[in-house]
Amino acid sequence: MDTTRPVRLKLTHVPTVVIITPENATIINAMVRSVMALGNCPMCKAPTYIPCLTSGLDGIHSAGSRHYANAALDFRSSDWPLGSRDTVLRALAGELGNDFTYRIESDHLHIERRA
Ligand SMILES: [Zn+2]
Repeated sequence: MDTTRPVRLKLTHVPTVVIITPENATIINAMVRSVMALGNCPMCKAPTYIPCLTSGLDGIHSAGSRHYANAALDFRSSDWPLGSRDTVLRALAGELGNDFTYRIESDHLHIERRA
């Protein structure tokens, strides 16, 4: 991943209950860049979609989950704009490269750093 490109972290909605760690900044940056592929609202110029982080180190996850190793984040996926899923996931694959994996789990997108 090109880490020299500017990142607009302020685009990410982070609920106060989520505990994120510096190690997870790469995931946040990749997600923010990926949703930027959706572009801006033509009327108001604001981003079409702002990703919502729903879980980091907090929460209850399966045994052995990478969340407990500060190596995974969840983003709400149920609020993605209609028809945006493929665009976001395609961009995300390019942003994350081979060091991370992701998958859709019911109502959220789970992204984790490979062990
Ligand atoms: Zn998760």
